[in-house]
Amino acid sequence: MQNIIKLHDKYFKVMIPAEQVDKAVSVVADRINRDYAERHTPVFVGVLNGSFMFLSDLLKKIDFNCELTFVKLASYSGTCSTGEVRSLIGLTTPIEGRHVVIVEDIVDTGESISHMIHELEKHHPATIEVCTLFFKPASYSKQLPVTYRAMEIGNEFIVGYGLDYNQLGRNLKDIYVVTDGK
Ligand code: 5GP
Ligand code: MG
Repeated sequence: MQNIIKLHDKYFKVMIPAEQVDKAVSVVADRINRDYAERHTPVFVGVLNGSFMFLSDLLKKIDFNCELTFVKLASYSGTCSTGEVRSLIGLTTPIEGRHVVIVEDIVDTGESISHMIHELEKHHPATIEVCTLFFKPASYSKQLPVTYRAMEIGNEFIVGYGLDYNQLGRNLKDIYVVTDGK
C-alpha cells in the first residue's frame, strides 16, 4: 500500500484501508438481505461512474434473486433560467411496480440523489431506497431518507474504490483523503 500518492496537482494519503471498506460493505449488505428477503426480484440501480466498485462488491454479498442496471446523471447547461439541467440517461430496465435500490458512491449535499429519486419516481416503482458507500451528514441538506449508509465521513474530499479526482484514483482499493504537501 503506497502511503502518499499524487493525482494531478494534489497529494492524498490513506484514510480507510480496503479491509475496513469491505467490512462496512458486508454490514450494509446484511441489512439489505434482511430487509429485501421477502420482496419480489428487487432491482439495483447503480449510478455511474463512481459506484462501480462498491456495487460489484455489494452484489457479491446479496443472497436473494435480483437484477442490476446502470444509469448516469448527465449535467448540461440548459436554456432555462435556472442554468444547470440534469437528466437521467441509460435506464433500460422497466422499474414500474418494482423494488428499487439506488446504489451511489457518495451522498454529499444530496442534490444528485434527490434528482435521481425524482427521475426514477416518474417510472412508478413500488419502492425506492438509497444505498450509498459514503454519507457526509454535515453537508446533507435534503429531507429525503438515505436508508443504507455504509460509512459516514466529515467534509473531507476522498478518492479511491471508484471515487475520482478529475477522473483519476478510481482504481485504488483503499480510500484516500487529500493532504497538504508531501
Ligand atoms: P451531492 O450532489 O450529494 O452534493 O454530491 C454527490 C456527488 O459529488 C458524488 O456523486 C460525487 O461525484 C461528488 N462528491 C462529493 N463528495 C465527494 C468526495 O469526497 N470525493 C469525490 N471523489 N467525489 C465527491
Ligand atoms: Mg456519484
